[in-house]
Amino acid sequence: MQVVLSFFEFSAGQCSLQDRFLIYLRRGKAVWNGGGLMAIAILSEDVVARIAAGEAVERPASVVKELIENSIDAGASAVHADIAAGGRKLIRISDNGIGIPAAEIELAFKRHATSKLRAAKDLQGLSTLGFRGEALASIAAVSQATVITRHCREDTGVSLKLNGAEVQHHKAIGAPAGTVVAIENLFFNTPARLKFLKSDATEKGHIQRIVTRYAMAYPKIRFVLKQDGREQFRSSGRGELADVAAKVFGLARFKQMLEVSSEETARRGCPKVTVFGYVSQPSLWRKDRSRIILFINGRAIQDHALNHAITQAYEGLLKSGGYPLAVLLIAMPPDYVDVNVHPTKAEVRFRDANQVFAAVQRAVRRALLDYGGKAPAVDKWASPGSARHYRSDDRPSPAYRPFEDDDRRADADLDYIPEAAGRPSKPRTLPLLRVVGQIGAAYIVAEGPAGLYLVDQNAAHERVLYDQISADMRNGTLQTVSPTDSLTLVLSPEDTALLTEIGAELAQLGFEIEVFGPNAFVFRALPKCVTSRPLAATFPQMLARLRQSKRKLDDAVIALAWAAAVRNGQILETEAMQAIMRRLERCPSPYQSPTGQTTMIHMTREHLAKEFERGE
Ligand code: ADP
Ligand code: MG
Repeated sequence: MQVVLSFFEFSAGQCSLQDRFLIYLRRGKAVWNGGGLMAIAILSEDVVARIAAGEAVERPASVVKELIENSIDAGASAVHADIAAGGRKLIRISDNGIGIPAAEIELAFKRHATSKLRAAKDLQGLSTLGFRGEALASIAAVSQATVITRHCREDTGVSLKLNGAEVQHHKAIGAPAGTVVAIENLFFNTPARLKFLKSDATEKGHIQRIVTRYAMAYPKIRFVLKQDGREQFRSSGRGELADVAAKVFGLARFKQMLEVSSEETARRGCPKVTVFGYVSQPSLWRKDRSRIILFINGRAIQDHALNHAITQAYEGLLKSGGYPLAVLLIAMPPDYVDVNVHPTKAEVRFRDANQVFAAVQRAVRRALLDYGGKAPAVDKWASPGSARHYRSDDRPSPAYRPFEDDDRRADADLDYIPEAAGRPSKPRTLPLLRVVGQIGAAYIVAEGPAGLYLVDQNAAHERVLYDQISADMRNGTLQTVSPTDSLTLVLSPEDTALLTEIGAELAQLGFEIEVFGPNAFVFRALPKCVTSRPLAATFPQMLARLRQSKRKLDDAVIALAWAAAVRNGQILETEAMQAIMRRLERCPSPYQSPTGQTTMIHMTREHLAKEFERGE
């Protein structure tokens, strides 16, 4: 008996180490006849069909994908998917496309039978999703398939039933123009494959993902997905990606996405690349890449490098380890993309990968940088019933917020003073700035839509902290800590006198100070923001700044902001600089520190161009 085993299924006693090593070299699969390897022979059609099926038909969702692609290629304007038991029992895809001519119906189920490709040269510049002529044959080989179709130019339809690729019946039948393919009992004759299927819920999830993805790539086609009798998804077919994306991501999340729309004109050797779609604002992110959805010329693809290009566009804006949400439809001349790379057609090869990555990255970056002045995607989204005007105080909080509810909140260490949860966010006063780096351990270099910003880290942080502390005092959300070990300071007689004078103001800032002895004080509590430095040094310095004070409370807040702020000379991590910038962008007076010091120098693009004599 001939058995097909994977390398890992061999038990030690059944084949020699050398055999096993050889098999291992052949990467996992080998034919074993009980004593050693067999002579070489060409596989029978039936075996070939099942092996091929294994490549293209991995799980029910792959069947859904292939059938939907056929419907799209057939020019359908409506595609319905009816699924039972995660696709195990039934996958039925109906479309109103051109249909299959009665005379060709059996041929359609033969391997390498296609109406989309004739010669090898046609592989360049393909405009259809299918071309391999393998899907129907592969699917039929591992299921019980029924197809009812009527070609748009024929009067009667045809029905064909197959059982594991064997024709059961073939007859004429009255049917509307279009095609219905029903796949029952998938993998009924390949038990190994069946065993590897996950729970119904998982398979249902994969199917939903496929249908919603195609609905986004083809907003002009109406898609309806029913699973186990329940309608799970429906797109309108009205032609707006925003419409579909709002359904797929959920309106609340979609409102936090920005439109990307760019067209790079063709240059010598570089084709025209257009990028259209939506990406999340930096405040909306996930811990994985699963919501980066990409289409090249209408084909859903997975491309590690493109994912990376998109994520990189968020550098300086997004917390590290976070990934944006994106749906991008990328279009370029078909002969610049090789789609014939992988059986599932989910991978492509570009003639000039770098150019494509750069174009996509630029498009996303531009959308992010423009965001400062612009309203997000929802403004352009005019759907009846849900059209709502966007107000600036609607804007999502700048605090990093993960996408999934079950994602735990990101590391709060980023924030020098964490913002209270649920606080309404303030309107933006600066555009979204991307941190590029730090100079001389004193200045943050940032890029914005209107040029370069050189930011004094100390002055900027003082501004941020001053605003934050003032707001926290108003809202009663000031955070204090009580030292676990008793914290005692001995002050000079002058400082003791001053402390008595401004004790009430310091108490408002969160200091709880008790007299311990002559000139000695115990700190029972202190504001959280000053805990990163030794109080014995900073507290007397704070008092020194308050000696001449007229506006006691305000000056106390300024002194506290000074005590907590990063100093010049301090090397900062990108994320720390980012945190400062994110907050500065929402300060009412971002250009000056609370003591009136300049926080930033802005060099506009025009200014830079002039300096470099580019004469823009
Ligand atoms: P491919 O899509 O690569 O050509 P398939 O095996 O998926 O290969 O389909 C074989 C052929 O059957 C297609 O080329 C097409 O002519 C026809 N076909 C399949 N599904 C449909 C459909 N829903 N509507 C019209 N024609 C179809
Ligand atoms: Mg196909």
